[in-house]
Amino acid sequence: MQFVINKDILIVDTKYIFVTGGVVSSLGKGIISSSIARLLLSRGFNVTMQKFDPYINIDPGTLNPYEHGECYVTVDGHEADLDLGHYERFTNIKTTRANNITTGRVYQSVIDKERRGDFLGKTVQIIPHITDEIKRCVKLLGSTGKYDFVITEIGGTVGDIESLPFLEAVRQLKWELGRNCVVVHLTYVPYIKAAGELKTKPTQHSVKQLQQVGIQPDVLVLRTERELPAAHCRKVAQFCNVSPDAVTQSLDAPSIYEVPLMMHRQRLDQIILEKTGTPYTGEPDLTKWNYFLSKLHGADQEVKIGLVGKYVELQDAYKSIDESLLTAGVYQDHKVKITYISSEKINDGNAESLLCDMDGVIVAPGFGQRGTEGKFAALKWCREHDVPTFGICYGMQCMVIEYARNVLGLTDANSVEIDPKTPYNVIDLMEEQKSITNLGGTMRLGAYACHLKSGTKVAEAYGKLDIEERHRHRFEFNEEFRKQFEDSGMVFAGENPETHLVEVMELPNKKWYIGTQYHPEYSSTVLSPHPLFIDFVRAAINNKNQRAAK
Ligand code: GLN
Repeated sequence: MQFVINKDILIVDTKYIFVTGGVVSSLGKGIISSSIARLLLSRGFNVTMQKFDPYINIDPGTLNPYEHGECYVTVDGHEADLDLGHYERFTNIKTTRANNITTGRVYQSVIDKERRGDFLGKTVQIIPHITDEIKRCVKLLGSTGKYDFVITEIGGTVGDIESLPFLEAVRQLKWELGRNCVVVHLTYVPYIKAAGELKTKPTQHSVKQLQQVGIQPDVLVLRTERELPAAHCRKVAQFCNVSPDAVTQSLDAPSIYEVPLMMHRQRLDQIILEKTGTPYTGEPDLTKWNYFLSKLHGADQEVKIGLVGKYVELQDAYKSIDESLLTAGVYQDHKVKITYISSEKINDGNAESLLCDMDGVIVAPGFGQRGTEGKFAALKWCREHDVPTFGICYGMQCMVIEYARNVLGLTDANSVEIDPKTPYNVIDLMEEQKSITNLGGTMRLGAYACHLKSGTKVAEAYGKLDIEERHRHRFEFNEEFRKQFEDSGMVFAGENPETHLVEVMELPNKKWYIGTQYHPEYSSTVLSPHPLFIDFVRAAINNKNQRAAK
């Protein structure tokens, strides 16, 4: 079945699922959306996912982690919301800039059109121009003809002023698309301890708010800390005009990766398929997912990884690194216990006491001066004590600087990011960055090719020589110092085939001392964990076993 939605977009049987949130934020809309995607994929459907963020920033690239947690990067160089990381980890499908749209981008594109004169003298307004642009961004994915389902997560909470244009666009789309569209609304059912009761009133109010803007949700997912009795769900169904089988609950789970199974047990995938009139047979094939979960439950040993960074008090600042470590550990029957070590608190005097218990150490990405001396102190201790160490982006740059200072004797060596007047600029601004003044979206971003040197630990870990990895940086190893480093034992294990920029380095005489200018954490997924994380965690496990045998 095909039909035309407007003159330029043809929908070929694509179904649209919108996921909205009510009552409070942080309920895990990204996890529910990803779980729906996982289930539909496991039934053989083609799925893509999209996140709308209602803030004015063009992208989260200029937001610091206190505002927005980790900044995720897509292969095509878009600085994205961290939910896209969940999407990729759950689905194994790479996202692009079309999968993350902010209010800022919507307005920018409408204003650009206005300046070009595209509106032919009309007054440009939120409705219809902003809502049309939002609808265009949704339908653009469907119009590729590649997907059976487009899952669109609407950021923010129903009732927020800033998400109103998005909800209005959803209302219009629901009307236009009819059965090809469902709205899944995620709400919260609090447990009032003093009364010993679960309360559904906030959910009822939040559905009313959706109804007030003209949207009747088709499916409800009630987030709850305690199992909801069937009578509560029936009551919600009755008050909210939702069929009783479409009121599901999302109980706190020991792992976010359990959520797809939890939702499948309540038939969430079948309900969506039935509501969209999509024929289906049998059950989703969750063999690989279940294998991962069985390993997760069976992982009965522990390996300790120290993560040195300046945002260690924030839960989401290193999300992709945390998840990459967890997954790599699970496949090797280990639970990775991460100890977050503030790079502002660690120094040469206390490095031993903070790090001696660690089986492996990661030095995190970052920007700016704060905490860098602590990263150098941690790296010095790890290098001298031969602890498996993984430097990522800034972490790799700090590895180079620490080595320059303490092995090559280049006192005060630094990155020009931290000390523009350093006598030894071993990390320098990339040539192409020198003329850049705007900070938004101008770093070296996205996937670039890298050729690895055969015989290196890195090449061995990958099992191939040509790789592609995602980047997010302005500074790079300074070629002028290459010979000095190589003569004293550092190996530059991979470089960009065109620009010859150093992408990865290692110290071959150590157990595992590797720094990547790129971010392997962005491409590690549940079903295909990244080879460097696997290899690093393996080295940490070996280190643990060797230490135990002593
Ligand atoms: N601040 C460094 C640079 O811009 C490293 C960036 C990062 O760690 N992502 O090159």
